[in-house]
Amino acid sequence: MAQPVILVHGGAGTHRSSTRSEKIAGVQSASDVGWRVLADGGSALDAVEAATRVLEDDPQFDAGRGSYLNLDGEVELDAIIMDGSRQDFGAVAAVPRVRHAISLARCVLEESPHALLSGPGAERFARQRGLTVPSAELIDPELLARWYDSRWRGEALAAAADPRAGLANATKAEPAATPGDTVGAVALDSAGGIAAATSTGGTKNKWPGRIGDSPIVGSGAWAVDGVGAISSTGHGESIMRVCLAHRIAFHLEAGMDASAAAAAGIDHLSALTGGEAGVIVVDAAGQVGLAWNTDGMPYAWRTTQDHGAGI
Ligand code: ASP
Repeated sequence: MAQPVILVHGGAGTHRSSTRSEKIAGVQSASDVGWRVLADGGSALDAVEAATRVLEDDPQFDAGRGSYLNLDGEVELDAIIMDGSRQDFGAVAAVPRVRHAISLARCVLEESPHALLSGPGAERFARQRGLTVPSAELIDPELLARWYDSRWRGEALAAAADPRAGLANATKAEPAATPGDTVGAVALDSAGGIAAATSTGGTKNKWPGRIGDSPIVGSGAWAVDGVGAISSTGHGESIMRVCLAHRIAFHLEAGMDASAAAAAGIDHLSALTGGEAGVIVVDAAGQVGLAWNTDGMPYAWRTTQDHGAGI
């Protein structure tokens, strides 16, 4: 019997005003919900989905309700869930009008012959399962006001008019987009099952159709029983260049502990891309690791004996 553990994160960046204690309370609620699943003998896969749904409902995070708006003022979501027992995943990308993209990703894993669905096709798949909501339900008033704000609107329109401006002007040495508040969870259950989940609205004023690292297997998440699970947040265009989650899994397989593997992954990303990111890791022994190269990343974890949270 393994000692179960859950670890959740908010984003390596900040996309909306809220206090540190509000953010910590948000990740603690998610960790508590995920923990309940594990404590009742549930699977790591169910636990990471349940925890991520709580964060998708909390508008202080950039996922589900409260997601960043794209250039057109719309929410488009990316999410992935990975089951370490099967080494298999489901993911959705650039999908609008879905409140719980993580559950849609779970449906892709369980109910489709595919692994990653995007855009209108993903929305149609969601509608068949009753998972769509009106767009307005996802839009946070503060983010909408900021989108309308002349400074933001100027940025958005400049980027729309000139594809070399704004996000599209990011060079490899100097990424333009700052990370938001992507959410995720990793867990180990009492049967030794491991899982990871990541869900996001992406980056501020992103180009419509832009897909970040979050739904890309090995970048936004990775999970294999006997090795560990990883969920990433940060500048997606940088994270994808180093396949951050999979790279950390390699470190675990090579015998590094979860903390060292997380730190090595972030160090490599910083050195190669200069991008900003954060990761959470749980290894097969139930050890947890956290690393980020930004001002902070809200996290919360829980085991039978102990729990903790911070930024
Ligand atoms: N990784 C996300 C993306 O690039 C953003 C974030 O983590 O806040 O879409």
